[in-house]
Amino acid sequence: RTGARVERLPLARYTTLGVGGEAEVWFVSNGAQLAEAVEAPYRILGGGSNLVVADEGVPERVIRLTGPLAEADLTPDPALSSGETVVTGWVGGGVPLPGLIRKLQKLGLSNLEGTVGIPAQVGGAVWMNAGTRYGEMFDGLHTLEIVTPGGTRQVTPDDLAWGYRQSGIPRGHIVSRVRLRLRRSAPEEVLAKMDFADQARKGQPKMKTPGCAFKNPGGVSAGKLIDEAGLKGARVGGAMIAPEHANFIVNLGGASSADVHALLALIRERVGAPLELEYELWP
Ligand code: FAD
Repeated sequence: RTGARVERLPLARYTTLGVGGEAEVWFVSNGAQLAEAVEAPYRILGGGSNLVVADEGVPERVIRLTGPLAEADLTPDPALSSGETVVTGWVGGGVPLPGLIRKLQKLGLSNLEGTVGIPAQVGGAVWMNAGTRYGEMFDGLHTLEIVTPGGTRQVTPDDLAWGYRQSGIPRGHIVSRVRLRLRRSAPEEVLAKMDFADQARKGQPKMKTPGCAFKNPGGVSAGKLIDEAGLKGARVGGAMIAPEHANFIVNLGGASSADVHALLALIRERVGAPLELEYELWP
């Protein structure tokens, strides 16, 4: 055994919605532990900000990156940096994205500030190329380290078929660490861009939520369709369609995953247009 900490824990603790039953959680902090963790069926958990986990939990082991895999070495690599371009040391997939963005701003390092306000870990955000209309994760990546049961490999963005909210990395391939490609800039300038991107978030609810429920069908706002169906504030058990923004389901406290699924079904029934789910459902 490589010494990874393994515990049965409620996944509700690790999701922004605060819902989800138990699983065997593997806390891995280095490559050897990660290699052991992927020897049996697994799921990789990031910040849990795009997940609705079943009340029954999941049967697979759930891998969570900790220790050095949740730390960031932002020192410029002299061999790869030149002029305004800075390539950092390794940034663990388990690093919380919001704190990283704040640190980069203070250091006067630009390229990723458009992702400000996205609650995620670096690995999860890279895996789905999370972003806003002001920027996305692939704006600032140099190298990615990817772990699978077949081994560990390093790739560059050019090796991947990445695009809008997708990295091209197959599901289950673990983004264990990345090196960032950044541009030197004045900290005040980075801050100004962050403030601008942050403005767009003002209408979002502050309660426990996994973010937007549905993709906008054919460019029409899903929130507007749900609102027009008269569903703002609709409740099932502890789950509610947010009065501030109808495309957000929030946990009022004590919501179950069954409550959330019931609300999703109600929305689908009342809104005529076909709606594609934005969250990922576990299992
Ligand atoms: P999780 O939710 O933990 O997992 C999501 C998926 O990523 C799962 O398939 C998981 O297996 C996989 N994954 C996690 N970590 C890794 C890893 N290390 N390697 C490989 N795969 C991994 N998203 C946006 O794009 N833009 C937004 O503006 C935005 N706003 C949001 C606002 C709120 C209030 C909330 C709650 C969510 C928002 N989201 C937004 C959604 C969410 O933040 C993103 O989808 C984010 O990328 C999820 O990252 P995570 O680390 O939380 O992943």
